[in-house]
Amino acid sequence: MNKRKKIFIIYTGGTIGMQPSKRGYTPAAGFLTQQLAKIPELQYPDMPLYTIKEYATLIDSANMTPQQWNKIANDIMEVYHEYDGFIVLHGTDTMAYTTSALSFMLENLTKPVIVTGSQLPLFEIRTDARQTIITSLLIINNYAIPEVCLYFGHQLFRGNRARKMSVFSFTAFASPNFPPLVAAGTNFDSNETLWRKPSRKKLKLQKINEPMLVWLRLFPGMSCDILRQILQTPVQAIVLETFGSGNAPDNNPELIKLLKQACARGVVIVNLSQCLYGSVDMTQYATGSALAEAGLISSYDMTPEATLTKLYYLFSKEKSITKIKQQFQQDLCGELTV
Ligand code: ASP
Repeated sequence: MNKRKKIFIIYTGGTIGMQPSKRGYTPAAGFLTQQLAKIPELQYPDMPLYTIKEYATLIDSANMTPQQWNKIANDIMEVYHEYDGFIVLHGTDTMAYTTSALSFMLENLTKPVIVTGSQLPLFEIRTDARQTIITSLLIINNYAIPEVCLYFGHQLFRGNRARKMSVFSFTAFASPNFPPLVAAGTNFDSNETLWRKPSRKKLKLQKINEPMLVWLRLFPGMSCDILRQILQTPVQAIVLETFGSGNAPDNNPELIKLLKQACARGVVIVNLSQCLYGSVDMTQYATGSALAEAGLISSYDMTPEATLTKLYYLFSKEKSITKIKQQFQQDLCGELTV
């Protein structure tokens, strides 16, 4: 008989283990772990074995912070050699930020890390939590995907490509610019050609700190005053959400001048499209070329979550602004299409 695989589950909080309270759903200590013990399918002999680490403070993922990402990654590192794979139970609100962050931080990963959660708590009759937990365990049992993934709504996504799309749907996530790694229908349909190749290098954890970063979404009629004020602070990076393929009003010389001056003094300014599908291409229109000439760098087809966490990661890893800009525009772990 094959040896049963061993999976380490980290429970951080989220709807999955919540209970109703006067102020709405809230996480409850010990509750999820008790409920899981009552699921007969988890005890079947062809299921993998699991161990749960429940965090002392369970959170709604709206409260997630980069310090918490460091803790999750560190907890995976500590038991990495004892387990075949890892599941992180997490709220859906910021799940795609966590999967993106972990994908950069866990350098040279060779084992699967699946982050999942649910739209309805495990105790609810119509809960989706049983399905997400059981299927995540079975995916790790069947496939050694060497990636940080997000499982939701019957699909396994590359973690740094996924986005929360719906507040209410059981298929709450999508991966607009990259196909799912596994579709969990009546059978598992896995597209192994899409998986990343396992690294031969040793696993390394790159912890992250937050640089002083500003997120700015362009809109018709936006005043330059906002940007001027921002540039009076010690800001290190700005993500500018632009129109279409990465365009901004080039008939606003003040805007272009401010951006150019900021790039020249070493602020990293990223051009991220407001569109969900497709890639930034600053050569397509004169309104995009103006931004390239000002010194902005491209986010290509990265998600906003990958864009943010990649900046955090690179500012924590590299001192040189030139290196940060170079690496930001390279594919580090499947987050952008080259
Ligand atoms: N607010 C919840 C959270 O992100 C939503 C969820 O888990 O689905 O923790």
